[in-house]
Amino acid sequence: MYDFIIIGGGILGLSTAWQLQQTFPGQRVLVLEKEAGPARHQTGHNSGVIHAGVYYKPGSLKARFCKEGNVATKAFCREHGIAFDECGKLLVATNELEHQRMQGLIERCSANELPIEVLDRQALRQEEPNIVGEGAILVPSTGIVSYTRICERLAELVQAGGGEVRYQCQVFNISEGGHEVSLTTNQGPLHGRYLVACAGLHADRIVRMLGQQPDFKIIPFRGEYFLLPPQHNQIVQHLIYPIPDPDLPFLGVHLTRMIDGTVTVGPNAVLALAREGYRKTDISLRDCLEMFTYPGLLKMLKRNLKPGLQEMKNSLSKAGYLELVRKYCPQLQLSDLKPYPAGIRAQAVAKDGSLVDDFLFAKSERSLVVCNAPSPAATSALPIGKHIVSQVSELVQARG
Ligand SMILES: Cc1cc2nc3c(=O)[nH]c(=O)nc-3n(C[C@H](O)[C@H](O)[C@H](O)COP(=O)(O)OP(=O)(O)OC[C@H]3O[C@@H](n4cnc5c(N)ncnc54)[C@H](O)[C@@H]3O)c2cc1C
Repeated sequence: MYDFIIIGGGILGLSTAWQLQQTFPGQRVLVLEKEAGPARHQTGHNSGVIHAGVYYKPGSLKARFCKEGNVATKAFCREHGIAFDECGKLLVATNELEHQRMQGLIERCSANELPIEVLDRQALRQEEPNIVGEGAILVPSTGIVSYTRICERLAELVQAGGGEVRYQCQVFNISEGGHEVSLTTNQGPLHGRYLVACAGLHADRIVRMLGQQPDFKIIPFRGEYFLLPPQHNQIVQHLIYPIPDPDLPFLGVHLTRMIDGTVTVGPNAVLALAREGYRKTDISLRDCLEMFTYPGLLKMLKRNLKPGLQEMKNSLSKAGYLELVRKYCPQLQLSDLKPYPAGIRAQAVAKDGSLVDDFLFAKSERSLVVCNAPSPAATSALPIGKHIVSQVSELVQARG
């Protein structure tokens, strides 16, 4: 019998396991991951950005945990010898409308107490000679890192602290009752006193395994990237982001310096036909059936028809995709866009078709499930883990 079982070997599961171990020394901690290693889904297929917290609604969990996570992630990297680069980020306005929207973001930064600099056209040119725009917001505290590397270290720490991380162990069923939570897995039955699920793309399925009806569904959005050829590794010194449309949930195609020295372009956001379908052609009948019979999805599609179709068009046409980035980096050519693996975002969609904006958790007798943890959850993983530990501590106090 374990004290704490954690489903998910992504950054949230591992951060939670490590912090549970520190809060409850000597208790038996087990992490279950269905893949052969850590960070094989969202955590290992992202932009690697340590976000600063520009966009998020003041007072939201995202705003709070992102800001705390920015500091905590860098401190963790320093302590454990993991490479990161505080290269800063520029949000570039390329036309009058974006310039107006930029004012809204400046106000949001001020509400979130985030230090920024506002650059005019000349100052932008000086900072980034290859980027054009009417002006930009410079966010100096944004950085880059490998979240896979952080996960590997967290897994080592959990194991060094006496915990167990079991790979290729998939949870199929859960029953909660009496003094324990029982799990059916491909490696046989497992029992724990408490359960935390950080299952990303399968969060709603975990809620259902617990015998509850989730009031949301995870809808997968593929984020497609391209890699620039090595001669462009120095094309920018900062991360370059567009000014996002405030009505859309994703940040727009950006130029991202990666911690290995390369530069990627992306990600876009296209509805995926399989939760773990990383190629355009991947289709899962089970996932499609669940998705297209969910009334929330149809409402969401109706609401976002125009931008959704636009994203699909640019996904099918490399030239359309290129135009998104040429708005601020006009020297890039079609031949500069090399293939790069996509990522899939787990986005909770409510029954009314709205995209759940903030991080969302559900608690039951002996379990806590992370229901919605999209970007910036990698940045926020350490404070989210701390939050989960405090929620689990309440369960422990109530039930012993
Ligand atoms: C394209 C893209 C770009 C992004 N860019 C950034 C960024 O730059 N910065 C940032 O902060 N955030 C970014 N994010 C968001 C960030 O990657 C995620 O929010 C974060 O990784 C979520 O971590 P997780 O542990 O919840 O999920 P995951 O990493 O998906 O981990 C969940 C794990 O649970 C396992 N699992 C699920 N069900 C079961 C089961 N039944 N049994 C056993 N194991 C199971 C899965 O195999 C998986 O490994 C991005 C996301 C994407 C997709």
